[in-house]
Amino acid sequence: MKPATADKPAKPGAADKPAKPGAADKPAKPGAAVKPAKPAKPESRLAMVRRARRMNRELAEVYPYAHPELDFENPFELLVATVLSAQTTDLRVNQTTPALFAKYPTPEDMAAADPEDLEQLIRPTGFFRAKARSLLGLSAAIRDNFGGEVPGRLEDLVTLPGVGRKTANVVLGNAFGVAGLSVDTHFGRLVRRWKWTAHEDPEKVEADIAAIFPKSEWTMLSHRIIFHGRRVCHSRKPACGACPIADLCPSYGEGETDPDKAKKLLKYEMGGHPGQRLKPPPGYPGRPAPPLGAAE
Ligand code: SF4
Repeated sequence: MKPATADKPAKPGAADKPAKPGAADKPAKPGAAVKPAKPAKPESRLAMVRRARRMNRELAEVYPYAHPELDFENPFELLVATVLSAQTTDLRVNQTTPALFAKYPTPEDMAAADPEDLEQLIRPTGFFRAKARSLLGLSAAIRDNFGGEVPGRLEDLVTLPGVGRKTANVVLGNAFGVAGLSVDTHFGRLVRRWKWTAHEDPEKVEADIAAIFPKSEWTMLSHRIIFHGRRVCHSRKPACGACPIADLCPSYGEGETDPDKAKKLLKYEMGGHPGQRLKPPPGYPGRPAPPLGAAE
């Protein structure tokens, strides 16, 4: 990979090399004025957009199999799984939904569920009382307001209880083929590390990223970023020394730069572990996730 910006960080491993003896190491001559270090040239908007698009292309090569990591067979299942995925892992949701969907396969069935029974079924995903209320509410709303079918428009989806913009975009992008950016915690963290945006607010992040990429890229870009966040660019300890896009990342060095130590931080198929889906799509190079309660 060629350097893309003036701010290009060192390649993985470079941090381990001993520094060349240079001017910085020399003591200043007595009496000589100490020159302030030249600030790095700020990256232009055009350079950032080029770098961002290049990172997307490289991520596409690293994760050609990127996909939503929730198991689902239809829009209703994806909607329910996405609501359940708040504050927990997709793996835990995937381990929970087979029993849930076997018992309540349609919005009508779920709307008529006994609340306590529903709570017990979804208990492993946490916050089960609030999530059960959302599932009962959204199922009833789909039954009463949308003829029993999950609506395929953002403005309708966000009227459902417990469904925000992020959930709506996940459903639109993956069950209806409508382009959407899924700004979850991984997405926000990575695009800020990459200096694609400085915003914290998910709607502002979404607007910034939407301005960098064509609509046709939005859904797959979201999967690639979330894949990278889950596998390599973790919240607390990013595996910089094993990161395939390190030389395009302005935050290289925020995490572990030693290649061997960084390799040990990789997760899921990148680290040789099972993935999050019990039923991964064809082409996924990792192993399927184990069912609830089974050892890895
Ligand atoms: S792992 Fe490190 S180098 Fe890779 S994207 Fe994250 S911060 Fe950048």
